[in-house]
Amino acid sequence: MASSQPSVLIVEDEPAQREVLAYNLEAEGFRVATAENGDDALVVFDEAAPDIVVLDWMLPGVSGIEICRRWKSSPKSRSVPIIMLSARSEEVDRVRGLETGADDYVIKPYSIVELMARVRSQLRRVRPSTVGIRLEYDDIVLDAETHRVTRGGDEIRLGPTEFRLLSTFMEKPGRVWSRDQLLDRVWGRDIYVDTRTVDVHIGRLRKALGRHGGGDLIRTVRGAGYALG
Ligand code: CA
Repeated sequence: MASSQPSVLIVEDEPAQREVLAYNLEAEGFRVATAENGDDALVVFDEAAPDIVVLDWMLPGVSGIEICRRWKSSPKSRSVPIIMLSARSEEVDRVRGLETGADDYVIKPYSIVELMARVRSQLRRVRPSTVGIRLEYDDIVLDAETHRVTRGGDEIRLGPTEFRLLSTFMEKPGRVWSRDQLLDRVWGRDIYVDTRTVDVHIGRLRKALGRHGGGDLIRTVRGAGYALG
């Protein structure tokens, strides 16, 4: 179940603030990774592959601004939203002026409720199925809140793994997912599962979606993986 959870990386050098953030984000259903300085952040980012980053500006070592710039200039990390934390509004102005590419800014001291709202708002963009949104593709409708899926109005019953596979596909129609990427997203990195397991569950998902007629919308991309549409 862990894997369909959205994941967040918190980069904050003050332990108390880091813990409060981690606690609240975990309570909201996030998988949380933390880093206490810029150098750690770069390593943990690669390990944790977060959906979203909360990044303190003032850090020992590599600064938050520098990290933000690096992530936003690399194709593989560019799309991950970054919420920058800053001590004063003048700093925010400066950060904006420096064109770091941060997606949002929160001024310290912030209210945790406010920060959570910002996190959810960024997440809605990148992982819509994790914030209780209805996804539609062709004649398929997936309701992430009730876990109901219909195709052409007929209810489709899916196992939990097939549901997570389908929500992953429906968040980014057309995107080709490798088996390894699907393993990370659907099963989670901590669990060892053979890549052939992916094929088995794709087979089940196809069968379930085709039960009431309708074409096969899941495309096998030879040598690459699978895509929806
Ligand atoms: Ca700091």
